[in-house]
Amino acid sequence: VDVQLRRRLNGPPVASVGIVGGGQLARMMQPPAVALGIELMVLIEDPTSGAGPVITRHIVGPPDSPEALRALAEATDVVTVDHEVLDLGLMATLETEGVVLRPGAATLAVAADKLAQKQFFVGAGLPTPDFIEVRSPADLAARPWPGFVLKSATGGYDGRGVWVRPSPTEAAAVLAWAAGAGVRLLAEEAVSPEMELAVVLARSPAGEMVVYEPVQTIQGDGMCRAVVAPASIPASFAALARTLGKQVAERLDVAGTMAVEMFLVDGEVLVNEIAPRPHNSGHHTIDACSTSQFENHLRAVLDLPLGDPGLRSPAAMVNLVGSRSGVDPRDRLAQGLAADPTARIHLYAKAPRPERKVGHVTVCDDDPRRALDRAWKVAEIMGGEVKR
Ligand code: ADP
Repeated sequence: VDVQLRRRLNGPPVASVGIVGGGQLARMMQPPAVALGIELMVLIEDPTSGAGPVITRHIVGPPDSPEALRALAEATDVVTVDHEVLDLGLMATLETEGVVLRPGAATLAVAADKLAQKQFFVGAGLPTPDFIEVRSPADLAARPWPGFVLKSATGGYDGRGVWVRPSPTEAAAVLAWAAGAGVRLLAEEAVSPEMELAVVLARSPAGEMVVYEPVQTIQGDGMCRAVVAPASIPASFAALARTLGKQVAERLDVAGTMAVEMFLVDGEVLVNEIAPRPHNSGHHTIDACSTSQFENHLRAVLDLPLGDPGLRSPAAMVNLVGSRSGVDPRDRLAQGLAADPTARIHLYAKAPRPERKVGHVTVCDDDPRRALDRAWKVAEIMGGEVKR
């Protein structure tokens, strides 16, 4: 039974989008939804944080509950996701039952698994650091690489599940942990990128695509700390990064916003990983671009015409990350606003914990480096963990 088609025929004409997961990404979809008269509904575990306080229509439950997902699909025209920790088999079943899932289950299955992503890159002829699946310590000993990175295939984010150049003892501990936990591991050749890049784009089911200007991402302890837009790279590299992004989106048949993270290394652009949803590397688009990644995500999943992705000004975005000092950036809002009247501050209604993103600051400035300095300063004043 096509539950969503049935609803469209009998229900109100307003378009509605159901979101699985209620973090900051779902939260930041709400302002453009208000502007366009799109109704959002969210399947959320904790309605007091993230999207909960702003998306009033919600179903409280885990993202892998069949009943909750069916109720979400029943109440909305299109279902999308705010994270990749999903029951992929269940998502595929819902799709065959007629739920309009965007991005689709096949795309989500590749994105949720770093081994599947790497196999996809190789199959699509996209350049990516060399890798193997690691089943035993002997697999690592056999590699000619000068250094390596271990990654868990599933479940990792913000540097969790990534071990860059581990010591032999650390590597042994990770292998033992993975074997015990039943987690598949991959090892990649460690590269020394001159710069980490990301390309954010949006693609509609009809195949229309808009690509944002490539950005530089600044990582600290495996987590994105800041973004500079545009990335200060030669035009040929920017063009190459955009082309790679488009190839990924076409080959994966993505619907919605997607981010492709890349390394610029030895004059080459290598694809690192993908996320088929709005992404941290596109948060600056809210304040610096004609159409934000969140608005274009909604437009894309509803198969509406996409908006202009153009950068209206160079900009920098710094994440507000919970610090060990225990300061809550929400308590420092006035100080942050006073520090830089043109800074745009975004808070996610999340309680700070070390290494948890609770908000971000975007500064537009003709000079992107100065924008970055100014955004760091505001983040620092607000008590965010600063790792420049
Ligand atoms: P996550 O899912 O946590 O974002 P990533 O695969 O993007 O994980 O890795 C996080 C960070 O670890 C990257 O941004 C980069 O700084 C570093 N990293 C990942 N892979 C490599 C690699 N092959 N060589 C060197 N550094 C890497």
